[in-house]
Amino acid sequence: MKKLSVRTATKEYPVITGSGALKEIVPLLLNMKPAVTSLMVISDDNVAPLYLSDVTAELSKTALPVYDHIVPHGDQEKSFQNYFSCQTAALEFGLDRHSVIIALGGGMVGDLAGFVAGTYMRGIRFIQVPTTLLAHDSSVGGKTGINHHLGKNMIGVFHHPEAVIYDAEYLKTLPQHEIRSGFAEVIKHAIIKDRSFYRYLHENVRSLDDLGYGTRLEEAITKGIQIKAEIVQEDERENGVRALLNFGHTLGHAIEAELGYGKWTHGDAVAAGMLFALRIGASVYGTSLIEDSEINEWLQELGYPQLPASLSPEKLLSRMKKDKKAHSGTVKMVLLPEIGKAEVREVPDPLLIEELHKFLA
Ligand code: NAD
Ligand code: ZN
Repeated sequence: MKKLSVRTATKEYPVITGSGALKEIVPLLLNMKPAVTSLMVISDDNVAPLYLSDVTAELSKTALPVYDHIVPHGDQEKSFQNYFSCQTAALEFGLDRHSVIIALGGGMVGDLAGFVAGTYMRGIRFIQVPTTLLAHDSSVGGKTGINHHLGKNMIGVFHHPEAVIYDAEYLKTLPQHEIRSGFAEVIKHAIIKDRSFYRYLHENVRSLDDLGYGTRLEEAITKGIQIKAEIVQEDERENGVRALLNFGHTLGHAIEAELGYGKWTHGDAVAAGMLFALRIGASVYGTSLIEDSEINEWLQELGYPQLPASLSPEKLLSRMKKDKKAHSGTVKMVLLPEIGKAEVREVPDPLLIEELHKFLA
């Protein structure tokens, strides 16, 4: 088991990873000040049949009342309707200002439950218990929220958890395409901030099976969280370096929107976005990284899909311009002068269109 600490301007909280991490939740809850009055687990209907009874059995050891509320699975369920159903359940169960919400699930449950906690009675405490690999990214950093039909993640609050309890054992039931999706964000964290972690992953993870469920996977999770935590620590509200986490996401988000949300996993879209950002980097800096083709081949070996040639470069560009992070109509992208170093650069439209045509060919 490993314990790291995430520190931000407003809060410090532990991230406990490793097999059996759930055992840490009882002492944690019993030591919280002010004393906890009741608990509500929020989960989805894929995760609940697998892990809810284990988690509630463990939580019962606190002798506190334990309630649960299950929402349907899938990113489209990160909705106002489910937000409202969680609030109704919390009121019906009689949760008060000292109750604690437990988010048991992937990033969808974490974002939804975090937003419920962040706004119920003007904000109560919550704990993240992630069950996906992607959630190494979503469970730290304090961003919570829901989707609106006019845009993903458009409504939310910054609200940090009291703790993240991450037992990699839960990932054993995760479908392989979800492992691949989460691993794209691990690769992203390595590429933008830590060259030696990138080399480690490249040498040791030649297929997703190589990740396994032991030390290597745990290492990927802890290191990924560490990098994310360092960046968030420096810039909680995304005024500067936090934007580097957007590597691969400018085109990635455009792909997700253009294909229709849910057609590709987030990580598959980010993987394609990272390759595109490397190409743009090569053009902007006038030199390609020696790792460019290495990363390209590696992502293919890992099974990340190729973009369908039917996608329109013009439509993708117009989506990229609508990105929350675009300013005054010019696309900003995270580019890499070298592996482990990233920076935000404005990229002119003609270059984007030219490269998109080549990328889709
Ligand atoms: P998810 O929570 O929807 O989980 C993916 C699928 O796997 C779901 O069908 C889920 O029911 C199922 N599942 C989860 N755990 C399982 C397990 N252990 N065994 C079997 N099935 C399991 O998606 P995700 O990929 O974890 O997260 C994506 C979400 O995270 C998106 O909503 C995205 O916007 C958000 N996100 C937030 C942040 C942030 O900073 N807050 C960062 C990145 C992503
Ligand atoms: Zn992402």
